[in-house]
Amino acid sequence: MKLLSIVVSAYNEEAGLNEFYSVTKGYGERLREKGWNYEFVFVNDGSQDMTGDILKGLSQDDPEHVKLISFSRNFGHEAAMIAGLDYASGDGIVFMDADLQHPPEHLEKIVDAFESGFNVISMVRTKNETAGIIKKITSGGFYWFINKVSDIYLEPNASDFFAITRVVQNVLKKNYREKVRFLRGYVQNVGFRKTTIEYEAAPRVAGSSHYSIKKLFTFAMNTIMCFSNVPLKLGIFAGLSSGFLGLILLIYTLCTHDKAPSGYATIVVLLCFMFGVLFIVVGIIGEYIAVLFEELKDRPLYIIEDMENIDINSEYGE
Ligand code: UDP
Ligand code: MG
Repeated sequence: MKLLSIVVSAYNEEAGLNEFYSVTKGYGERLREKGWNYEFVFVNDGSQDMTGDILKGLSQDDPEHVKLISFSRNFGHEAAMIAGLDYASGDGIVFMDADLQHPPEHLEKIVDAFESGFNVISMVRTKNETAGIIKKITSGGFYWFINKVSDIYLEPNASDFFAITRVVQNVLKKNYREKVRFLRGYVQNVGFRKTTIEYEAAPRVAGSSHYSIKKLFTFAMNTIMCFSNVPLKLGIFAGLSSGFLGLILLIYTLCTHDKAPSGYATIVVLLCFMFGVLFIVVGIIGEYIAVLFEELKDRPLYIIEDMENIDINSEYGE
């Protein structure tokens, strides 16, 4: 039997977790016909509600199928996915949300794709009932921008629902441990044999989304910095264009020195404009330095407080 690891990160998901488990387990059992066993690798991302207790209960009731990693505090969805990646022992690994927005009935198709030799399976949303118009526009703009300024391609409708085989797991485990990162983007750009499967995002089974506009903005900024140095070059363009503007103004002033305008408004406007551009460029450099600093400090991506049903020897690095 081959093994499918189902990595699930959960942060304050007490309301829907039991339903997620029983529904997904049902689909997991069906994989047996195809010669695949399954395991859950739950990551409790520092939840403050009963999520931890529910998961502990599951890991005791169903030790054969439930592994549990508990973080010491909230480290975020990506860190939780990376922890799952580190400890999953399956031949194939699928990453899912704990709120049933990623329909588990697709597990069979995923396993079929593994069997046909695909290493990376991106699940692409065809319909997103939960996203409002503003989210759709900003997300569209973001993907347009990132695909323009970076040399990689990010699929606009890809989600944190994807599956990889062990070879890809090893690559991601060893070489993509940046502090500022975009796991889904890496998955799409490591190469290997890729395929996509379409799915309809269901509404959340319970609870509410954890992603605020502010979080999404930080996320977008980080992603751009992850994949592109183009913003750093903005300074050169700004310098060149203001230099050119200066030259034109100089010529203009020299030619019209008798009847030159009194100049107050011109000076104030130009000054504000130039300082605006200057500080934006300085700010961008600052953002990149912050990223460098994060890497340099090399703090852990996550801290584990407790683990259930996990062989300690399977730890990252082994
Ligand atoms: N999540 C997490 N840590 C966090 C925020 C979210 O592990 O700090 C989990 C959450 O429990 C869920 C998944 O990440 O399983 C996706 O989060 P959410 O459903 O809030 O995002 P959305 O689907 O609205 O984009
Ligand atoms: Mg969700």
